[in-house]
Amino acid sequence: MAVQPPPADQRIVIENVAIATVDANDTEYARGHVVILGNTIESVGDGPAPQWLDNVVRRINGEGHLITPGLVNTHHHFYQWITRGLAQDNILFDWLVALYPTWARIDDKLVHAATLGSAAALLKSGCTTASDHHYVFPQGGGDILGASIEAVQQLGMRFTALRGSMDRSKKDGGLPPDHAVEETEDILIASEAAVDKWHDSSFGSMLHVAIAPCSPFSVSTELLKQSAELARRKGVRLHTHGSETAEEEEFCKQLFGMGPTDYFESTGWLGEDVWMAHCVHMNDSDIAKFAETGTGVAHCPSSNARLAAGIARVPDMLKAGVPVGLGVDGTASNESGELGTELRNALLINRLHGYPTALTGRQALRLGTMGGARVLGRHHEIGSIEAGKLADLALWKIDGIMHSSIADPVAALTFGALPPLSVLFVNGNAVVENNTLTTVNEDQIALACKRAAQELASRGV
Ligand SMILES: [Zn+2]
Repeated sequence: MAVQPPPADQRIVIENVAIATVDANDTEYARGHVVILGNTIESVGDGPAPQWLDNVVRRINGEGHLITPGLVNTHHHFYQWITRGLAQDNILFDWLVALYPTWARIDDKLVHAATLGSAAALLKSGCTTASDHHYVFPQGGGDILGASIEAVQQLGMRFTALRGSMDRSKKDGGLPPDHAVEETEDILIASEAAVDKWHDSSFGSMLHVAIAPCSPFSVSTELLKQSAELARRKGVRLHTHGSETAEEEEFCKQLFGMGPTDYFESTGWLGEDVWMAHCVHMNDSDIAKFAETGTGVAHCPSSNARLAAGIARVPDMLKAGVPVGLGVDGTASNESGELGTELRNALLINRLHGYPTALTGRQALRLGTMGGARVLGRHHEIGSIEAGKLADLALWKIDGIMHSSIADPVAALTFGALPPLSVLFVNGNAVVENNTLTTVNEDQIALACKRAAQELASRGV
């Protein structure tokens, strides 16, 4: 059952709290207040909240805390929660080939459990809006997209469900086995039906749908073109993997006679309504094309490190004006599944470009909040703490052993260990309290995920 929005006239006041608003001026308050009215932010400012406020149902003393916008995850594959820890020492193509046969045996029941696990890990690490790129739809697998949406609704997270797809298998020069892909026409029909059934474009929507063919090496050129046409006709966004590895670049040059970005351009896949995961192997011309067209990037530092894919040129992208958000990526290539820790990993990994200002702590926080909101096309609703925006907020406890000696609260979050969450608000609802989910019993999720992983593994023998 979906979590209902709070009554529109009820207020929650958070006071005595350090605030990083991540607004256009990076406004911060050392000791300020945030007032939530229903599902939106009514006010934010310095000092205590006004005393005349009525209908205050909860007053939180934020002493020893930092409040930030809820984090926004721009790339994930929720189903992979039940295939973690496998193919531990492979590059992307070998890792995919090792895992495709297992993934081809999933169904809606297993995906429901895996989604609870993935979404719980996101919530417990400060994420309030997630996207899930699901592209494996085995025959007889049931309503997989519906199962993932239902699980996310149970947990109360804001969500973009990506109807993914694969139609280029081995027999057509692609990477997936023949039995793991769908027919092009079936994909387009199912994608349009998913948009019609689920996509809610209203302000404050808890559920968007986007169209997301998987990657150049697993989908046909025709599907890319038709998907772009479909998404623009329906007014939804487009997502795929792009420029992830050197092997993908080589694949595109051999098959299409050009690199991934030029190939995407030739299929209508650059634009403000498009974002791509990874974008590790980008030359100056590729970055310029992304900047000119407003094409977004989901930067996935941990996954790129896990698969030895390389280091994305995030500082150059930001300088050029490319919209960049953060992504956990699927948990088969980032077993932690936490978005909060990606702030620190993005900061550290980008400094391996060779200079300490490559990414600052505040830039990392911006990538994880406003950057992600822009990439998902929701920057008018979420991503910063400003009056009128939705009440998606993370209240981090930074007065414990791990953080109390760091004077700068933003540095405590972005340079230090991931702090515990005292409260996580999504749409004005407290879905995490004292670092624990309020909506679904965590032990039940853990057990369901363990059983689902065992069930899936047993289907392979
Ligand atoms: Zn991915």
